Amino acid sequence: MTSLPHADLIDIGTKAMTVRVGIKPHFKDFTVHENLIRNSSAFFKEALSHENDTDQPRIVQLPDCLNGMGGQFHIYQQWLYTGRLYTGKSASEDNRRQEWTRLYGCYLLGDSIQDTNFMDVCMDAMVKWADDCGKITQLETRLDAVEIYKKTPETSPLRLLFVDLIVEVHDYDFWKAEKDHDFSYAFMRDMVIALAYKYQSKTRKSRSLPPYKNSLGQSCHYHCRGDAPCYKSNG
Ligand SMILES: [Zn+2]
Repeated sequence: MTSLPHADLIDIGTKAMTVRVGIKPHFKDFTVHENLIRNSSAFFKEALSHENDTDQPRIVQLPDCLNGMGGQFHIYQQWLYTGRLYTGKSASEDNRRQEWTRLYGCYLLGDSIQDTNFMDVCMDAMVKWADDCGKITQLETRLDAVEIYKKTPETSPLRLLFVDLIVEVHDYDFWKAEKDHDFSYAFMRDMVIALAYKYQSKTRKSRSLPPYKNSLGQSCHYHCRGDAPCYKSNG
């Protein structure tokens, strides 16, 4: 194992807190050190910005839009402590679909709690998934397009990757068979732009591959744009 710079040791402090996901009676509590989560997530930095005057550990309730995301928060909690993403295929799963669903669920969680490093780590894992496997059925495309476009802003890198993936894996027959389903205008607009770009690339006789192909997360193309340096530069 490679040894890391001693100066990069994180002071996680001694204060632990509770993160509550969901509402009574269907909630789940997770214990996390305050310093650790505050330094990673802008949402928690703000939520913990006031002094705790009591001896009781603090409880922070996640926003209602994250109800039912206990599984994703569990993955996030483990990532905070280990830097590892426990989203891969389990022995009981017969394909890698669940991995994709877990990854973009975690990405959406990261978006909601404003943890850009976590989002970029999830994104790199999704890029790898798309490059390795990238299988997504008609029904899954419908479900994912609805959820992703409902829960992300216009400039979301997740939309960008999803559209690149759909352009790559679905052909003429897929779109011809696609009837009676109301894709959002935003999704269809992004698809038209991406398809036109691909078509024009072909007419220029240069095969245009989407950035996730063979890049294996080497670039920041799908990373969150911000002032902070990429998490890879910290490693
Ligand atoms: Zn980056």
